[in-house]
Amino acid sequence: MTGKEYGFHTKCTHAGYEADATHSVQAPLHMTTAYTFDSTEDARAVFALEKPANIYSRLGSPTCDILEKRIAALDGGVAALCASSGHAAMLMTFMCLCASGDEIVSASRIYGGAVNMMSKTLRQMGITVRFADIDRPESFAEATNGRTRAWFAETLGNPASDVPDLRALADAAHSFGLPLIADNTVATPYLLRPAEHGADITVYSASKYLCAHGTVIAGLVADSGLFCFKGNPRFPDFNTPDASYHGLVYADLGPAAFVTKLRAHILRDTGMTLSPFNAWLVLLGMETLPLRMERHSASALAVAEYLEKHPKIESVSYCGLKSSRYYPLAMRYMPKGQSSMFTFDIKGSAESGGRFCDSLRLLKIVTNLGDSRTLVSCPAATTHSQLSAEQLSSQGIKPGTIRISVGLEDTEDIIDDIASALAAV
Ligand SMILES: *Cc1c(COP(=O)(O)O)cnc(C)c1O
Repeated sequence: MTGKEYGFHTKCTHAGYEADATHSVQAPLHMTTAYTFDSTEDARAVFALEKPANIYSRLGSPTCDILEKRIAALDGGVAALCASSGHAAMLMTFMCLCASGDEIVSASRIYGGAVNMMSKTLRQMGITVRFADIDRPESFAEATNGRTRAWFAETLGNPASDVPDLRALADAAHSFGLPLIADNTVATPYLLRPAEHGADITVYSASKYLCAHGTVIAGLVADSGLFCFKGNPRFPDFNTPDASYHGLVYADLGPAAFVTKLRAHILRDTGMTLSPFNAWLVLLGMETLPLRMERHSASALAVAEYLEKHPKIESVSYCGLKSSRYYPLAMRYMPKGQSSMFTFDIKGSAESGGRFCDSLRLLKIVTNLGDSRTLVSCPAATTHSQLSAEQLSSQGIKPGTIRISVGLEDTEDIIDDIASALAAV
């Protein structure tokens, strides 16, 4: 991939790998814990950072390296890091930016598991998360103080398909000297590249649309390289020598400051490493990302339009519907498609949601999204069940709300199954 800047589809199948000594066409899978050194002198030189080499797979591996280069190329970033899950990608990112006593401002309408991590585990670590409303970007500024180290938002909110004004958030974050972290799991880099709209760090659960087939748990962090840590008083740890890593001052590395600290310090010490095998499956899935996201999006729009017209349906949250309050932002940030996850409510009692799900035949009840199969779940009883009643209602999740992730089956088959399940409600 040298010289010419190739298009997105080409990068999906080629970026990060050219052919190694074996001339393998498909990216090679290296299942090994560690690597040999030529001599003790060679080992010393590698450890002293005098020459790059593979050492030990907790710190990186050739297969993960290909995936890191591929996502960085697709995202338009300088570099990326694999993580053992989407949660690991987020947690490592927060740990890289925050110490005990520091704070984060996060959008409130996000994946329930992320709310748990922020309210429980980060709090245990002494990191406070203040929640803000993406519909009022000024609420992020109101929640910011001298201890704030980053802002966080999902580019396409799980589960209700809400869309923040990324550019407004990024500009406001930068005016405080703060990086904006964007969770781009649901949109994927094919539909939206957060770095193009000012986001500094992008995190992914690659367990969803990137891996494609519901095969693995995986995470990725992509660094735009645009945020300047040098001399920023909010980030003393980036601006003082790291005694545990050769006295390196990460901010001096310029665009690679964040991703270098993320690997050399945080990945090294937490070990939230992606297995090369899982990286290999994500690489395989990503080859077809553009084709799938086009079909996922087109099918989701057809399903959402069908539901919206159905007399038994009370509301549909899909941001690709003209009736959605997020439609203008969706058209601005994701004109090619709006992915395939959204929620809907059936008229009547809270039990109708469960009865609908139990009457489905083709669609599966699964707490996952971005699979090639169409999946449904009830967030209030599953993914978002640890949230308080107040948090649920602020997320627009009612007891009977159904989340759907529209898959790659024939759209007519998906709609037929929904139609007969609705008839049974
Ligand atoms: C699933 C998900 C996560 C967590 O990812 P895992 O791979 O399950 O750890 C984070 N953010 C969003 C938006 C998700 O959908």
